[in-house]
Amino acid sequence: MLEDKKQESVSLETLGEFGLIHHLTKHFSLQHKSSVIGIGDDAAVLDHTQKTVVTTDLLIEGVHFDLSYMPLKHLGYKAVAVNLSDVYAMNATATQITVSIAVSNRFPLKALEELYSGIALACQKFKIDLVGGDTTSSQKGMLISITALGEANETEITYRSGAKPNDLLVVSGDLGGAYIGLQVLEREKEVFKVNPNSQPDLEPYTYIVERQLKPEARKDIPELLKSLAVQPTAMIDISDGLSSEILHLCKESKVGCNLFEDKIPLDPTVISACEEFNMDITLVALSGGEDYELLFTIDQKDFEKIKGNPNLTVIGHMTEAAMGANLVTRGDTKIPLTAQGWNSFASE
Ligand code: ADP
Ligand code: MG
Repeated sequence: MLEDKKQESVSLETLGEFGLIHHLTKHFSLQHKSSVIGIGDDAAVLDHTQKTVVTTDLLIEGVHFDLSYMPLKHLGYKAVAVNLSDVYAMNATATQITVSIAVSNRFPLKALEELYSGIALACQKFKIDLVGGDTTSSQKGMLISITALGEANETEITYRSGAKPNDLLVVSGDLGGAYIGLQVLEREKEVFKVNPNSQPDLEPYTYIVERQLKPEARKDIPELLKSLAVQPTAMIDISDGLSSEILHLCKESKVGCNLFEDKIPLDPTVISACEEFNMDITLVALSGGEDYELLFTIDQKDFEKIKGNPNLTVIGHMTEAAMGANLVTRGDTKIPLTAQGWNSFASE
């Protein structure tokens, strides 16, 4: 207890940059053979035997996350998971990350420890090594930038551009949960502002709130596809919403698409929350982002291999580009898909 109290009073300033880096990263160890040198030198040294894939995300407080309902441990976990999702979307194995942070001097050490405990949990869960980063101060708010590295055999790397007409369109998991979970959290935040003594009962919303706060990158899907001997023809992860990701695949692959409304996988709690918020469930699935499921196309000959797999749902098929990208509704009418996914430059 005493030690804890002492630690809480340590300011970032007294600890200094090097002390802070050491304090936050001392429990991380390397588990990949390809991580030759991690934290501690001027640069990390890696030894990938296959092709290297690299991806970066920058997260800014107030734009990408809200610390009033996002516990820092969750933020650390999520920041890593969303980056790894991009590696898995290349059909690659994630191996290393670097983490760069900017925080105000007034930020309590405890808060950064929380953040790093989430990062550590993600490293453990997804079997990746933290091999470096940068630490600096910020005048306002917190910034986190994560770079993820992975490797894959040249023939297995899956681009957005490989889909062909008649390929099947497949999605992992279910959709819309993260967006509707955010609606629940925003509502509770407003209630709390009016009555700070109110205790939100989030129990009925556990699944969707977790989808928002603790998304899981689909590490298992590239592994599953490999074990089924299925090479996806194109792949993308769903960060901005199904509709906008389908449009990316169509544009990059120069194809069209028919997406069947009645095939979109939905969890029962997402359906009931949409009813409660009076929101159109299809619109939520199409436009709500942050589900971090994988969307990919496969050759029709591979259908038998994935048929009946509980992790995968065939939601449509690709067509000639001239047919356009369409939603085929339950009433059997065709509506052109539009990108209504999250656009961080759009004014509120
Ligand atoms: P330099 O001044 O050469 O950039 P730093 O003092 O920033 O070196 O970093 C020292 C070591 O600590 C490097 O290996 C760097 O990758 C690592 N590092 C710095 N900040 C972080 C962080 N926030 N998380 C993880 N590793 C970090
Ligand atoms: Mg540095």
